Amino acid sequence: MNEQAVAVENEKEIKEINPTEIMEFLNARFGARFRMWLRICAHCGLCADTCHYYLAHDKDPKMIPSYKVKHLVKLLKKKGRVDSAYLEEVYNTVYHECNMCRRCTLYCPFGIDIAMMISLLRSLLFSQGIAPEGLVKAIENYKEFGNQMAVSEEDWVETLEWCEEETAEELVGLKIPIDKKGARIMYTVNAREPMFYPQDIMEVAKIFHVAGEDWTFPSKDGWDDTNLAMFCGDAKTSKMIVENTFKRADELEVDKVAITE
Ligand code: SF4
Ligand code: SF4
Repeated sequence: MNEQAVAVENEKEIKEINPTEIMEFLNARFGARFRMWLRICAHCGLCADTCHYYLAHDKDPKMIPSYKVKHLVKLLKKKGRVDSAYLEEVYNTVYHECNMCRRCTLYCPFGIDIAMMISLLRSLLFSQGIAPEGLVKAIENYKEFGNQMAVSEEDWVETLEWCEEETAEELVGLKIPIDKKGARIMYTVNAREPMFYPQDIMEVAKIFHVAGEDWTFPSKDGWDDTNLAMFCGDAKTSKMIVENTFKRADELEVDKVAITE
């Protein structure tokens, strides 16, 4: 297996391939829309020039968006009876040859959503215990700390307080509200900001202050607006991350949730 792919559960080796499980997974999700897309693709190649991987690989025909979903056809045709070398091929395609930007969909005359099919393949690999190491680590962090960078609640609040102190030296009276009930806006960030770019938090605080905005940060899970679980098709964790944000917004009774860029 590619060195960047790891077993989802560290203590386990990548699961033995189970064709029945693969087919159960696909049958439960591969509905009429997916079937129609595969059937109506005219292989016209109009989507080719829209894909940055195709352009960056000297127009390699293997990088044409419609070609990348061949794995779905093969998995269905073979009824999930594939080997680990084949799943490695799938892994390389769905993680190293497509970033699910959906540009090709905008140009396809039929609106065939290649990214959605790549996402289905990523979910399938995840169900088989295969995902990139970085994403697996981030998922563990979301589950344990509620954010991808494993920032504890204490560190998060301390960082906000420190940001407020620093920024108030420049703009007297500036506040970074935390858990302000009934604020108009609950603001959320990328968890990399408190870790590596606190100046981004300070800049936003300045904008809100000068604009006279009524805003707040939540102190608990839900302040990290990234959702890396989505990128490897971990629907359960992905749902939990979104729910955390909605839960905080409900508790704080805010009107709107705003997210960082
Ligand atoms: S996905 Fe659309 S644009 Fe691309 S080859 Fe198929 S029909 Fe043509
Ligand atoms: S969704 Fe994937 S295949 Fe389509 S243009 Fe983006 S990277 Fe290329």
